[in-house]
Amino acid sequence: MSDPDALIRSSDPEHPANHICTLCAKFYSLGWVTGTGGGTSIRHGDKIYIAPSGVQKELMRPTDMFVMDFESREYLRRPAAHKPSACTPLFYAAFKRGAGCCIHTHSQWAVLVTLLVERDFGSSAPFEIEQIEQIKGIPKGRDKVGNLGYFDRLRIPIIENTAHEEDLTDSLEKAMEEYPDAYAVLVRRHGIYVWGDNVHKAKTQCESIDYILQLAVEMKKLGLPWTTK
Ligand SMILES: [Zn+2]
Repeated sequence: MSDPDALIRSSDPEHPANHICTLCAKFYSLGWVTGTGGGTSIRHGDKIYIAPSGVQKELMRPTDMFVMDFESREYLRRPAAHKPSACTPLFYAAFKRGAGCCIHTHSQWAVLVTLLVERDFGSSAPFEIEQIEQIKGIPKGRDKVGNLGYFDRLRIPIIENTAHEEDLTDSLEKAMEEYPDAYAVLVRRHGIYVWGDNVHKAKTQCESIDYILQLAVEMKKLGLPWTTK
């Protein structure tokens, strides 16, 4: 590519360079990516668009975007003013599994749920919940048709946090193998990674899961169980 900026130049709001900016501004207002934390990445054919590290997510512009070749993992566009996101290898792990979009948030509900699971079920337990209507927003699993039903159980694995974000990659990939139907992985005391087949699905799933995590924290406060047994 002779002109790397051609990769981000588009008037289409759905173009990943524009879409990531709009999504991050929305996620900022939800408290998911404040203080430059969290991030979003979209796969667009053989290219991956990634929000940079350390940039205020609500003020991001298409010119801030990194673009990586999916096969070679080489940067096709690398803004000199920014550092690539430390989440890049984690997003890549989701894209290798067929995801079209991956969202990482530092949602306080996600952080609180990881602490509640550890306290009540142990450090190796996943988060589990059932009989909540919003579970229907989450797909049944990889290679399965449709979404979870009201009586199905939603399971989200939890991995331990590390000093550096990129060091989470191995445990994230291990959790993806152990829970092949999961579309999300919680990170203790840190947040959550949620991915989907496309941007629309990833956003829907991330919103549905965050709603469920907030509800789960409130249920705990009221002494209500997450599962029937
Ligand atoms: Zn993070």
